[in-house]
Amino acid sequence: PGPQMPFDPEKKTLVVLGSGWGATSLLLKPWIQLTSTSHQVVVSPRNFFLFTPLLPSVAVGTLNTRSIIQSIRYITRHKTRNVSVIEAEATDVDPVSKTISFKDSSDIKGAVSSTTVPYDYLVYAVGAETQTFNIPGVKEHACFMKELNDAERFQNEFLDCLETAAFPGQDAQEVERLLHMVVVGGGPTGVELSGELHDFLENDLKSWYPELAGKIRITLVEALPSVLPTFSKQLINYTESTFKESKIDILTKTMVKEVKERSVVLQMPDKSIQEMPCGLVVWAAGNRGRKVTQDLMAKLPDVQNNRRGIVVDEYLRMKGAEDSIFAIGDCTATAYAPTAQVASQQGAYLARQLHQMAKRDHLEEKLGKLETLASTVLDEEEKKKALQEVEVTKKQLAKIKLRPFEYSHQGSLAYIGSEKAIADLPFMNGNIATGGVATYLFWRSAYLSTLFSLRNRVLVATDWMKVKLFGRDVARE
Ligand code: FAD
Ligand code: NAD
Repeated sequence: PGPQMPFDPEKKTLVVLGSGWGATSLLLKPWIQLTSTSHQVVVSPRNFFLFTPLLPSVAVGTLNTRSIIQSIRYITRHKTRNVSVIEAEATDVDPVSKTISFKDSSDIKGAVSSTTVPYDYLVYAVGAETQTFNIPGVKEHACFMKELNDAERFQNEFLDCLETAAFPGQDAQEVERLLHMVVVGGGPTGVELSGELHDFLENDLKSWYPELAGKIRITLVEALPSVLPTFSKQLINYTESTFKESKIDILTKTMVKEVKERSVVLQMPDKSIQEMPCGLVVWAAGNRGRKVTQDLMAKLPDVQNNRRGIVVDEYLRMKGAEDSIFAIGDCTATAYAPTAQVASQQGAYLARQLHQMAKRDHLEEKLGKLETLASTVLDEEEKKKALQEVEVTKKQLAKIKLRPFEYSHQGSLAYIGSEKAIADLPFMNGNIATGGVATYLFWRSAYLSTLFSLRNRVLVATDWMKVKLFGRDVARE
């Protein structure tokens, strides 16, 4: 039978929403092992963790999809605590009645496909979705680069463009259009995808589509004056010159105003409007909050009024629901960038925090029982013993300190293609900016070691080796 909800009412229920960077980092920690007094439930529409930094590598077929995902059940199975995993999408959170509603949003549904359950504590880690700014045609015609199926869709459509361009009798203008790839957004996602795409053209397409390879164009469109605005100036220049050598055109101060089936409409730096024909558009224009997050915030309008996301205090407690909701990762509005690095540190911090809270709850409960005993028991000796225990427990309680979250920045890394990467690394209160082939080897080893499991490390390393030996697979699924 599936999990019975609600569980035993004697026990506290902790619900974790999401299975991304924040939630997984929390689940990997040996938290609350000592509390046999709580239930832990993970609810996510995706029953796996996705290692997003390597998603652009999946998009061009350098890595297999399975190599960068890990089942959440696999992660929770190895823990001594009992964690239930439910594949479902949260549709509503009520911070007053402390309930969440969720539904099965997958294709196959049973007789029951939605329910509402109570929680005592909620870890809200649902991430964000791709920002479209409601620009016409984006949802209909562009490909995102956020989820695993985005990368799969990109790979399929990109190869479709190539095969269609190779169709006999295609005129030169149409071939040029089909082979023009436009990446919108010069943030790290857009830059990394452009770099990976260039590698694919350079290393593989020349062999498989020799007649087309020279005709493929990549254009990166960015509304701001430069790409990678969060990296140091030196690395921005390095990226721009590497892209120039790689024949990736960068259009800065240029804004995409509309995406059509066969073109993008651009507002150029001089404010003129131009239509640029293309075969495929990748939309990597940043994040926005999910609807479920916006709805939750709307229930606490006085304190939750930041357009970027959920406002939390220094203990990552949601303002307005401090006693029960913690929010981490991309769904929050904090001083930090929405990165995996921040989300995973927040998840690990929260694991320790929940552990401390569970200890505190346990001691408070014990103290209450001891105090009742001390005030009701008649035997003097027993009363004295109970009072002594009360003092000991009070001391133990006083030792429990909840520390605020502190972020420790380990640096920013990005792959820019042609076996080159860039890195802004903190060093002795300063910063080191490095770029090149050595940084690329550092990038590879850093990501390999950050992968959460040995299984993923072996799979990714094997994929890299396979591509070196046999090239990428251009068969379309
Ligand atoms: P996510 O990891 O997005 O997880 C959200 C989870 O919530 C998912 O499991 C999702 O299925 C689930 N969910 C969604 N809706 C619901 C719902 N209604 N109910 C329940 N669950 C729900 N950051 C870096 O620091 N370094 C990098 O190199 C890097 N590279 C990146 C490359 C790409 C292509 C992308 C897209 C992002 C990259 N990032 C990187 C950013 C990083 O991925 C995010 O900051 C990080 O994923 C945020 O973690 P999170 O837990 O908040 O959200
Ligand atoms: P982003 O928000 O960093 O960049 C999006 C870019 O799109 C912005 O520079 C914006 O000016 C541009 N843009 C928006 N609308 C546009 C339009 N209509 N026309 C042209 N340009 C437009 O988004 P991202 O790159 O997806 O990154 C999201 C988060 O994930 C960031 O915090 C980033 O640091 C993190 N991330 C990190 C890495 C890494 O460290 N290697 C990789 C990917 C993502």
